[in-house]
Amino acid sequence: MNEPRQTRQLTDYAFFFDIDGTLAPFQTVPQDVSIPSHVIGQLGILRDRLGGALAFVSGRPLEQIDTLTRPLQAGAAGIHGAEIRTLDGKVTRASIDTQQLSQIEQMLAEQTRALKGVLIEKKSMAFALHYRQAPDAQQPLQALANTVVDRYPDFKVQAGKCVWEIKPRSCDKGKAIRFLMASAPFFGRIPVFLGDDITDEAGFRYVNQQQGVSIKIGAGESEATHRIAGVTQVYEWLDDLINYKINIDSLRSV
Ligand SMILES: [Mg+2]
Repeated sequence: MNEPRQTRQLTDYAFFFDIDGTLAPFQTVPQDVSIPSHVIGQLGILRDRLGGALAFVSGRPLEQIDTLTRPLQAGAAGIHGAEIRTLDGKVTRASIDTQQLSQIEQMLAEQTRALKGVLIEKKSMAFALHYRQAPDAQQPLQALANTVVDRYPDFKVQAGKCVWEIKPRSCDKGKAIRFLMASAPFFGRIPVFLGDDITDEAGFRYVNQQQGVSIKIGAGESEATHRIAGVTQVYEWLDDLINYKINIDSLRSV
């Protein structure tokens, strides 16, 4: 039986990229992470061909996303969607009690003073409790993060790779992509989302609901429908994509 084939164009799609573990390899210290300049160049070509429908969706604040992706101008959702910049330059931020933020900051500083190798990163509306250099601190940090969100229920704990994050409860990457998809030039397109971590699953679920293309980077359980082995393979895939080696009809050749 012949199935009718629908011809799709690249501009039927909107692309969303996580950064750490997707476009940039992990480093011992999160500040050392970078995206190779040729990859930034490829993302720029892709963005232009998409008429701008490309955005970064990261746990990092917008400011850090901009630093990592400079000089590329693109849409961006920072802190898992707690701050989102659409292509018109407008930034929408989740409303968070700043007094609670400073109380949490103080609590984290006091409770982690004795934990060696632990890095507490304050983002504008969230906290990352890194234990990449202190694996033994995983459990105590999880307990601490749970204690914090028990006290401040506007926040929730998000597990990540060697990190516990305390972030606004109302935000996740699925909602972030949905928000961006409601704006031009994303509106009406098929979302494609690449991510590597637990926090990306909410994004995959939204994309799957929209019959989009969800791509998990690396090993591990995932609701994503496609998979790419690692960051290096993402670079190769990107290269294939802009050199017309990937079938745009389906984007299914991952
Ligand atoms: Mg990631």
